This record gives sequence, C-alpha cells and structure tokens, in this order.
Amino acid sequence: MKILVLNSGSSSLKFSVIDTASEVVLIKGLCERIGIENSRFSIKNFVKNKKIDKIPELFPNHKRALEFVLNVLVDSEFGVFETVDQIQAIGHRVVHGGEEFTEPLLINDKNILSLEKISTLAPLHNPANVMGIKVMRELLPNIPNVAVFDTAFHSTMPAKAFMYAIPYEEYEKLKIRKYGFHGTSHKYVYKVAEKLLLEKGVNKPYGGYKIISCHLGNGASITAIKDGKVLDTSMGFTPLAGLVMGTRCGDIDPSIVLHIMQEYHLSVEEMSQKLNKRSGVLGIFGKSSDNRELTEAMLNGDERAKLAFDMLAYSIQKFIGSYYILLQGVDAIVFTGGIGENSSETRQKVCENLEFMNINLDYDKNKIRVSGDVDLSLENSKTSIFKIETNEELMISIETYNLLKG
Ligand code: ADP
Repeated sequence: MKILVLNSGSSSLKFSVIDTASEVVLIKGLCERIGIENSRFSIKNFVKNKKIDKIPELFPNHKRALEFVLNVLVDSEFGVFETVDQIQAIGHRVVHGGEEFTEPLLINDKNILSLEKISTLAPLHNPANVMGIKVMRELLPNIPNVAVFDTAFHSTMPAKAFMYAIPYEEYEKLKIRKYGFHGTSHKYVYKVAEKLLLEKGVNKPYGGYKIISCHLGNGASITAIKDGKVLDTSMGFTPLAGLVMGTRCGDIDPSIVLHIMQEYHLSVEEMSQKLNKRSGVLGIFGKSSDNRELTEAMLNGDERAKLAFDMLAYSIQKFIGSYYILLQGVDAIVFTGGIGENSSETRQKVCENLEFMNINLDYDKNKIRVSGDVDLSLENSKTSIFKIETNEELMISIETYNLLKG
C-alpha cells in the first residue's frame, strides 16, 4: 500500500510517501514557515534520486501548502504518482490522543469532533495536526485518513505511574495525568531492538524483553518497556517534563514556577516561554541548544557547556537507574533521536557509570560513525546497547496499513 504520511505542525508540514510492502520511502519533503513570510520548501525523491532544496514558495496557510504537496506528488519530473487517486491512505501524526484514543483511529465525521475537543490538552500541537486531517478530507474526500497518536503507546502505564499526587478531582475534571510522548518512536525502536536481540541469540525471557528506550532529540524522553508494553515514561502531562532537553527544563520543583512568576510578575505565557524555549541546555550553556555546538564548546573548555552536558547525561542516568529497578533488569538500552544516534560523547558519558550493572559500552565501537542500527555493547555485556535510527514515518505508515487491513 502506498501511504502518504503527514506531520502537520503549527508552521511546518513534513510529508513522505511510503510503500508499506517494501517499507521504502519513495519521497519526502518539508514545507516551512507556513503563514509566515519567506515560506520554504524542500523535497527528495528517492526513486528518481532528485532533490529540490529551499525553493521559495508562498504558503499563506496549511491548505495552500497541502495543495502544493499534492501537485508535487503528481509532478512528472519530481513526483511519484500519476494521479492523486493512487494515494491509498493518509497517515497523520497526532501528538495527543488523550485517554480516549489509545489506538490508531480511522477518521470519520463524528470522531474528528472528539479529536478537536482534546486539543486543549496539547494547544501547541493538536490544532495543527487536526487541521491537516480536515484539509486532506476536503481535498481528497475518497481517501481514508488515519490518526496515529504520540501518546498511544504509553496507554499501558499503570495508574501508579500516570497519576500525579495532586487532588484527585483534577484528574477527573481536567484529565491531569501523565500521558507521555514520542510513543511512535519508542514503539518503532522497541520493535527493532526486539529483532536485534533475537538475531543476537538472546532468548526472549518469560515475560518478554525488557527495554529502556532513550529518544534524545531537541525534545527527549525515556521509556521503560516490557514485552511491548510501556510501564513508565519520562515526559508527563506535557512534553516539558522529564529529561533536561534542548530548550525545555524537564523535571523541576513546581514551586520554582510559582516563585519566578511572583518575583517577576510574569504572565502564564511568559513563564511558559521561559520553561519551554529558554531553559534546558540553552538555559545553562547560554549560547545554543544544539548538541553539536554544546559538545564542541565543552571540548574547548567552556565551563557552562560542561555543566549543561553533565546535567543532560545525569538526568538520563537517573531515569535509566530507576527504570532498571522498575523492569528488574534490562535486556537492551536503546539510543535514538538526533543526539542518541549521533553523539558518541553523550552515549559514553551516560554509560560510563553503568558498568557496575554489567551494562558495558564498547568505547571504540561507540566512536565509529556508521549508519543503520548497531550493537555498541561489549561482547560480555549483560545488557545490549543499541544505536537505532528511529523512523516515525515508517511506523505511522505501518500502523495506518494495519488498521485499514484489519
Ligand atoms: P527533533 O526533536 O527536533 O526531531 P532531532 O531528533 O533531529 O530533533 O535531534 C536534534 C538534536 O540532535 C540537536 O541537538 C542536534 O545538535 C543533535 N545532533 C544532530 N546531529 C548530531 C551529531 N552529528 N552529533 C551530535 N549531535 C547531533
């Protein structure tokens, strides 16, 4: 099945077409600065090995951008289809499914209204995701649309993990609980890790494999998975919780928020900006949120860069430690996302203190840059350490296919 996968953000639109039979990406692209001046567009066709980069195009809104994408998909030079009817389904990334949507959802007139209602839980993401679905239903009314939720994989968490110790009525009235994010990525790398363990000859234990998945990108989260089911995850009610991230603070004492707002007379919006956009690595290092720049500055002796780097690695270790106990051991630790896949320095720093648990990184192998999914652990390591290239688009296409086939 040839599936168009869409990730519709507030000012950007990522798309790809995936052939689920071969699991091959045929084309992928990005529209940027939608609704802002100097909109941009880039695309790569893997079948024809053609690329267009940064062609300026005016995208006053998402509808115009999606119309443009459809035209590109049937373009005789750059496209992959002769007509848009050849798109067999559209899989949409939707950040929040709330408690209601814990599986991929075939969109209809009724459930799209329910989906709109839960947008209040993720006001920065869901409205744009839902808009993408609505526009595609308008442009291609005969093609099925499937929503795949970032929160869905985490729906197996037990109440003791997802509840916050605040008055119970806030859960009942406002649905305040831990939801977790990056679920599509964690699910994808779990499946790859399972395959790699089997290939390595690690027998599936009674109760299934125990995996700690570390998705480390600009946003970052860690998930404890046992036999394909999430037991706990580091992000919370929103993607602000958990690890030290590029610009997000991760876990902090909630009283800090109240204190800063009081001291500086900040509005909710101003405080949200501070915690979401000016904290994390950027807040400590001060110069950049980018892991490459952070690492370079640290290696050049910048003290604040070193502090931010150490804090990042320390926050990762604390989750690995607690999830090790939760899972009662671990068969594999997975590093994925831009940092997890590329930063040998971060992987080493995280693994340095784990050796007493028989989690042994092969430092030499860790430093060699190779593409693909790799086992980075020493032969005698009780726990495997995998670098796995995440592929959320592929996972969305597989989920879409499975739902429609089923
Ligand atoms: P997003 O959460 O936006 O999808 P990514 O998964 O693309 O983010 O990860 C972005 C992060 O990955 C940035 O901090 C970037 O510096 C880091 N990164 C990308 N390539 C490398 C590299 N070669 N070495 C170290 N860090 C890298």
